[in-house]
Amino acid sequence: MTDVINPATEQVVTTVPSASAADADAAIERAHRALPAWRAVAPGDRARLLRRFADAVDADVDNLAALEVANSGHTIGNARWEAGNVRDVLHYYAAAPERLFGRQIPVPGGVNVTFAEPLGVVGVIVPWNFPMPIAGWGFAPALAAGNTVVLKPAELTPLTAIRLGELAREAGLPDGVFQVVPGKGSVVGQRFVDNPLVRKVVFTGSTEVGRRIMAGCAAQVKRVTLELGGKNANIVFADADLERAAATAPYGVFDNAGQDCCARSRILVQRNVFDRFLELLEPAVRGVVVGDPAHERTEMGPLISSAQRDSVASYVDGDVAFRGSAPDGPGFWYPPTVVLPRTPTDRVVVEEVFGPVVTVQPFDDEADALRMANDTEYGLSGSIWTGDVGRAMRVARGVEAGNLSVNSHSSVRYWTPFGGMKQSGLGRELGPDALDAFTDTKNVFISTEGDQ
Ligand code: NAP
Ligand code: MG
Repeated sequence: MTDVINPATEQVVTTVPSASAADADAAIERAHRALPAWRAVAPGDRARLLRRFADAVDADVDNLAALEVANSGHTIGNARWEAGNVRDVLHYYAAAPERLFGRQIPVPGGVNVTFAEPLGVVGVIVPWNFPMPIAGWGFAPALAAGNTVVLKPAELTPLTAIRLGELAREAGLPDGVFQVVPGKGSVVGQRFVDNPLVRKVVFTGSTEVGRRIMAGCAAQVKRVTLELGGKNANIVFADADLERAAATAPYGVFDNAGQDCCARSRILVQRNVFDRFLELLEPAVRGVVVGDPAHERTEMGPLISSAQRDSVASYVDGDVAFRGSAPDGPGFWYPPTVVLPRTPTDRVVVEEVFGPVVTVQPFDDEADALRMANDTEYGLSGSIWTGDVGRAMRVARGVEAGNLSVNSHSSVRYWTPFGGMKQSGLGRELGPDALDAFTDTKNVFISTEGDQ
């Protein structure tokens, strides 16, 4: 059993059973047994079941959101969006079964067609930072393509995943098609990697664990999608709308208390507007409303755990330019913090902090900005602020990252592809092509020759 802690109060919310390796294997076996019937469900019927699942999530949005506020300290506004995202992703991929086309390719002497075949049992391993959306990005397209799914939530944040499992059953998904298996990564997650009945692992989390999962999957040539860390640049050119760039920069990094792989945690500002930008940034950072995540006006809640707070604090040592506020008393609070690093090799510049800490550094020109933005092993997201369309396109093409936004900090829309370059990941989630990652192409040639 594992205690689930409310990070805003440090109180125990509830206790959740922790699956053993044998429990995980039993769930994988059930998922395997459910495969033939699930893939044989007529496309329109599979679509209907996914739409019903989406409707069940929609009817439960307020409950799911409240669970996430209590379990993860997410602001109520974010938590509602996250539950709604699961609904929307299910609806989007509910349209996929009838559109899972193969191709007919001209050949002599017959007919050649391709099929997009499901892979089998898919294991989805979810981190604690966005428990609902990251789960949905894995299970919705996997189920739509005719796979069955076992889902392991992070040990710290199992509550919404468990609820989604119940909603799937209530919506009529057959036994064994979608199972939630709470437990330790080193136990349950490891079984997803090692059990040969699992044909694909979808992992989101740290680069370190992701690397080990990829190595483990290699032993069975198991398919793998990885969504890992980020150290994303927010590049502000002198010709940008500086007021807007400064007003929005805190929300580009401090949303979800900075526990976001897309957090724009390195602000790079053109040198001739550096001081002016900092002047504008300070009131914006001080204005971030930090506090009880259940309040509608709150913009930032606590960190997930005291260990995470210790880790975040270890990056900040005396080089603070200014910071926002955080409540006293119980809860894993850490204030929004702006750091002016001493050298480009400071840990706070190089490593993913995964907390509300941002560095601000000057650059000279476009080439310098690109060099600094790309001086990292990560390549997930980033923002470019400029009034020059040509520069926006040049820099967007030059930054080595999978998801960029111009004069905006948006990263994720469920109908556009999401994922990382370099050590930020492997493969893409969401968007129109997500089912490619949950199917294998089969080619069939049918001879049309005979006695004439
Ligand atoms: P993590 O250790 O990579 O955990 C992510 C998920 O993998 C959790 O469900 C975890 O289970 C599971 N896991 C851990 N070890 C495993 C193993 N050997 N085999 C299979 N699954 C395993 O990440 P974390 O500890 O939650 O966070 C650490 C750091 O990772 C953060 O500070 C941040 O820098 C980064 N991170 C990035 C993202 C992202 O979205 N890219 C998300 C979260 C974290 P348990 O919960 O049982 O450990
Ligand atoms: Mg870990």
